[in-house]
Amino acid sequence: MSVPDHYGVLGVEPDAKAEEIRSAWRFSIEAFHPDRYANSDQRQRAHDMATRVNAAWDVLGDPARRRDYDLTLRASSSHPVAVTREVICPACLARCGVPDQRGKATDVRCPSCRASFRAYIGATLVGKPQLVWKGLRAHHVLVLLDGTRALTEVVARKLPAELALTEGGTVTVILGGRREQALFLIVHGNVTDFGWRVG
Ligand SMILES: [Zn+2]
Repeated sequence: MSVPDHYGVLGVEPDAKAEEIRSAWRFSIEAFHPDRYANSDQRQRAHDMATRVNAAWDVLGDPARRRDYDLTLRASSSHPVAVTREVICPACLARCGVPDQRGKATDVRCPSCRASFRAYIGATLVGKPQLVWKGLRAHHVLVLLDGTRALTEVVARKLPAELALTEGGTVTVILGGRREQALFLIVHGNVTDFGWRVG
């Protein structure tokens, strides 16, 4: 039996105070408002996420239900699950699941078109992306941390404004092009992944 990760959905710790849970819920409801997403696929995912956010609030916002949920959670938390990250093939745009690599550069073979691409899968984002001007052209530099605590810089041509990057967040960067720049950036939530074209 799998127990829904209500705390993960709201991005709060299991010992979060009631006000913290309320503000996380309000924040998420706004963040995943379908009107914020232009593309219909993303809108659908935002809608799915908002549904999970409301389900989490239904339980965690009610002290008695929260207590019951905490008990269920404690009873079921024993075996850690291997995390699969959803990535996008830059050649055919198919999505595929790849085991988390804690940010290590990995060569992935697309199961649909067989193209290989390189990606940093499950890296930790360090600081905020820096905007760097080169003559009249600007690009963004992102700093990634991997599981061995090594830092890597990647360059993205554009970062969409609605891309909510949080310091310390878990991301996957898919590289491509002659200069191995970032082509796609995927922000991994506890429940769903949002991908954006950045190159
Ligand atoms: Zn492909």
